[in-house]
Amino acid sequence: MTVIYERVALIGLGLIAGSMALAMRRGGLAGEIVGTARSAETRTIAQEIGLCDRIVETAAEAVEGADLVVLCVPVGAMGAVTAQIAPHLARGATVTDVGSVKKDVIATIGPLLPDHVAFVPGHPLAGTEHSGPRSGFAELFENRYLILTPPEGTDKEATLKLRALWEAFGALVEEMDADHHDLVLAVTSHAPHLIAYTMVGVADDLRRVTDSEVIRYSAAGFRDFTRIAASDPTMWRDVFLSNKEATLEILGRFTEELFALQRAIRQGDGDHLFDYFTRTRAIRRGIIEAGQDTDAPDFGRGARRKGEAAE
Ligand code: NAP
Repeated sequence: MTVIYERVALIGLGLIAGSMALAMRRGGLAGEIVGTARSAETRTIAQEIGLCDRIVETAAEAVEGADLVVLCVPVGAMGAVTAQIAPHLARGATVTDVGSVKKDVIATIGPLLPDHVAFVPGHPLAGTEHSGPRSGFAELFENRYLILTPPEGTDKEATLKLRALWEAFGALVEEMDADHHDLVLAVTSHAPHLIAYTMVGVADDLRRVTDSEVIRYSAAGFRDFTRIAASDPTMWRDVFLSNKEATLEILGRFTEELFALQRAIRQGDGDHLFDYFTRTRAIRRGIIEAGQDTDAPDFGRGARRKGEAAE
């Protein structure tokens, strides 16, 4: 039990903030955890389940005297929240965020912060399709990557201290340039989410297959799309609006590959399909070897807690 930060302010109390609060409590990593959320309903639930040491009404109040401030709201709300807290931040505090997009968030938040704080952006590649103050769990970040994208000139000590907090959660911390982060995440998370949303939308539109059939026979692959497509609509709307460029680039490539597969099916080109599926299978093996999923025949579903990694 080593206290890393004396007072941590969590702005937004959903899945990520809740999991951070529980992980901090478990490890005794914060002297005091102060939390706030936009709605009275979320604040009341957080109070009832004892998520934080103190729940306050406003973000401005929450950051008073905090040496770490974590912005845990959808990326589209980061700017407005930062404007509210900026005049109240303590000298020497570190401000971080957990937003799924980095370049746009840095461009929005950076200029709003005073010079007397350090800004170290971050993104935990861990999540579930659940949201809200009850959805968090202390183990969420264990063996998952946490990417820090400190802009040039960021205080090194502040970065190291934040790294230590995430490592204490069990995360594997890496540093990356924000642009590169956004491209990598467009491939591994953002485009796949859009494809899942589309596939579920297609099944919903297809009147030849009844809703009950879609649900009853979902185990044949569709079920995994529905889990991803159940992710929070606000969060994902903001992700696509903020990571527009990289997502569109990946979707362009996806469309080209899809056309090539479509042509192979039409022309009966089995070799093309076989070679393609052999290549993709190797990627799955790589993910399992890296410990980012299990080899269980149900896509690892049974091994996960309260849902599955969404990012
Ligand atoms: P969540 O469970 O939906 O919680 C979001 C929190 O933000 C809630 O407390 C909500 O307040 C608050 N909020 C929503 N809109 C707001 C606004 N316009 N102004 C102020 N507060 C607002 O979300 P989450 O999954 O923890 O995600 C939080 C951040 O983590 C997002 O930036 C997301 O991109 C990032 N992230 C998510 C995942 C994931 O898989 N879920 C993974 C990695 C990173 P109320 O409850 O009062 O409405």
